[in-house]
Amino acid sequence: MEKKFHDMKTDLVQKLIPPILFLLLAVLLVNMLLYQYLNNVYVSYGQADSEHNLCPHGYFRLGTLKNCSPWLSCKAMKREVRKLKHVGEGAVKRVFLSEWKENKVAFSQLTVQELRVDFLHGLQMLKSLQSKHVVKLLGYCEEDFVILTEYHPFGSLKNLNEILNLPKYKNYNTWQHRFMLAIDYVSIIHYLHNSPLGTFVMCDSNDLDKVLSQYLLTSDFHVIVNDLDALPLVNKSAGELIKCGHRELQGEFVAPEQLWPYGKEMPFEDSLMPPYDEMTDIWKIPDISNFLLGDVDGSDLVRFHLFNIHLACKKSPAERPSSQMILDTYKKVLASLVREMVIPRTKDML
Ligand code: ADP
Ligand code: MG
Ligand code: MG
Repeated sequence: MEKKFHDMKTDLVQKLIPPILFLLLAVLLVNMLLYQYLNNVYVSYGQADSEHNLCPHGYFRLGTLKNCSPWLSCKAMKREVRKLKHVGEGAVKRVFLSEWKENKVAFSQLTVQELRVDFLHGLQMLKSLQSKHVVKLLGYCEEDFVILTEYHPFGSLKNLNEILNLPKYKNYNTWQHRFMLAIDYVSIIHYLHNSPLGTFVMCDSNDLDKVLSQYLLTSDFHVIVNDLDALPLVNKSAGELIKCGHRELQGEFVAPEQLWPYGKEMPFEDSLMPPYDEMTDIWKIPDISNFLLGDVDGSDLVRFHLFNIHLACKKSPAERPSSQMILDTYKKVLASLVREMVIPRTKDML
């Protein structure tokens, strides 16, 4: 009797094991597939290519147009571009929403002659660094100090909170989308630090508002860099460092090595100010990411996961992580948070 019961039990267990195993395997497989899918959706997002590369250097393609057109010349711009309204201004450029062949474009003009060197440097950088990270150049006229670029109706990154708070964009006001903007931002810094022409430092960045005004928010919620006027080259192999301007910088936002090191007793003197490198950009990343993450459900959890890498950004220049390390960490954190979202309880089930 005892033996028969025992046999029945073993029989039952033997019968039940395959379907249970099958069920567990199926759950695991579905989770893996879902995870893979979401991972692709979220993580490859930052790498998504734009049409930039589809035209050769010196050409562009705009939304409705099929063919690549050459950058507009002085003559073509005078003939074909119509200024509509003033939409922005910094120290160097005055920007007008304009129209070219029924396309909205941004027409930037030099504000004051004294800044023409900065203007022409910015134009040179725009020409050389065209990529998915940089605003699309459509034309220029060096004699008239004019640059024509693609127009982005959301304007600069300064407008981010205002735009995401509009009811029609509320689906974008999530930690996922905001984290992806931060990934875009770090990707841009990585691109500038590792460009085909060398390592560039984003010097127009003495406070948060200033940094944000150099970047644009595209209508598909990506970040691109727009203002490349203050972009010195760090020539590491030649041991050449840079300085962001010739004046004394102050405040908490700039990196400590950008501050006058000799105290109040000694007046600032540019020739005595030690130069520095691209690690000033790294110092500023946590503050910009914090702004981009904003104050929505889940953004504090992201901040928690970025705590260590952000702490490292505030160390002394040589100890700070490279933009590559930060980018890798951001992507890893995004992937792990997505995984948590998809399979929050798999561990408990097993
Ligand atoms: P500056 O070199 O004087 O700082 P920017 O190139 O930074 O000038 O442009 C000033 C402002 O004009 C930007 O912060 C942004 O608000 C607006 N702007 C510039 N380019 C565009 C564009 N392509 N689309 C929409 N707004 C733009
Ligand atoms: Mg600017
Ligand atoms: Mg500028």
